[in-house]
Amino acid sequence: MNGKKIVIDAGHGGSDPGATGNIIEKEYNLKIANYIYNRLKEFGVPVAITRTTDEYISPNDRVKRILNAFGNNNDVIVLSNHLNAGGGTGAEVVYALRNNDTLSKLILEELSKEGQSIRKWYQRRLPSDPSKDYYFIHRNTGRTEPVLIEYGFVDNAKDANFIKNNWQDLAEATVRAILTYIGVPYDKVGENSIYVVKSGDSLYSIAKKFNVSVDSLKSANNLQNNLIRINQKLVIPGFTDNTNSNINYIVQRGDTLYSIASKYNTTINDIKTLNNLTSNILSIGQNLKIPAKKEEIIIDENMPISNYTVKVGDTISTIADNYNISVTDLINYNNLTDYELYVGQILKIPTIKENNNVYIVKRGDTLYSIARQFNTTIDNLKRLNNLDGNNLQIGQTLIIEEVPTNNTYIVKRGDTLYSIARELNTTVNELKRLNNLNSNIISINQELKY
Ligand SMILES: [Zn+2]
Repeated sequence: MNGKKIVIDAGHGGSDPGATGNIIEKEYNLKIANYIYNRLKEFGVPVAITRTTDEYISPNDRVKRILNAFGNNNDVIVLSNHLNAGGGTGAEVVYALRNNDTLSKLILEELSKEGQSIRKWYQRRLPSDPSKDYYFIHRNTGRTEPVLIEYGFVDNAKDANFIKNNWQDLAEATVRAILTYIGVPYDKVGENSIYVVKSGDSLYSIAKKFNVSVDSLKSANNLQNNLIRINQKLVIPGFTDNTNSNINYIVQRGDTLYSIASKYNTTINDIKTLNNLTSNILSIGQNLKIPAKKEEIIIDENMPISNYTVKVGDTISTIADNYNISVTDLINYNNLTDYELYVGQILKIPTIKENNNVYIVKRGDTLYSIARQFNTTIDNLKRLNNLDGNNLQIGQTLIIEEVPTNNTYIVKRGDTLYSIARELNTTVNELKRLNNLNSNIISINQELKY
């Protein structure tokens, strides 16, 4: 990636709200900045951020933070995130007098793909000294390459509404633009999935569902507390949505459909179908979608959870006991902050508990990884769970081994574990395991499970 480094700037903050109108600029600057920062980290791009909280930073301090992040060099790109005001609509990018407009145009192109209109990209000069940039983010940032992105107008109802509902998509657009600019392939790998909060969800249940931590969920979504609301869109950090994992590939000199198909372990026909190609002829620079050959992991919206209504006399521990789950699990599932319950309170009870026989599929699992973990085979897993293909769903319950049948053998005089094992077509070790025997000693009339 040519050694490029990125500094993400969240404009304004603290006592400086920035532009105010239908929404408050500083809040969305911060959300967008945090989002871009986290995303670039996922792609392994060296990245720093000027603020991660609602904090006032003076222009001098902001410049210091920017220049201290990776030094004052022209391989440092500064993305300063802002919202506009003043009675316009659409997105603008301002670039420095010392730079060209390539990055600005890329950003606006990507923003327009998300549905935001493009207003302009331009350089702005200081009226008192037209040899200098108007904005300090350009003027005082040395040799770096800064762009000031205005995603839209807070005092335009349409823009404000658009930003409020689509800020993640706008931030993702900037991520795509910067990755393109620095030559890092943007494929869906590492892309965050967006999850829409449903009734009954808690941060804990969502974190568990996607196998991420509550803290990383909070930081990816810039949440100050554990409150979420129904229909809120949450970024799931680091989640790989393999269901749409087409790879974008730009045709290089010398490429053929055959060479590309081999490289990506797919077929010429699959590439042609995906791209509506009628012939095998490619042109250099052409954009191709390549189907990613991975096991699909589909998000299961229905974790097995049932509701319990608290009754007089219930305590956390009696409920936990009744459902054979731990007090900690019960507290965590319900985001409880103390042990107090009230009558009529609805508690979520996980209805399926993992044990030796049952496993709940987590993000990143494959049949292969699960088979290895439980010392079984993919074929066994497929047979036990009636699976046709290799697809798994997060939250899916898998049977890992056959539930032992409850056959009982009653020991007779003259029996040994060895003779019983032979008679029952099993092994001594299996009998000992099933019956928790520490030795080979058995007694007459003892009941043995087999
Ligand atoms: Zn601003």
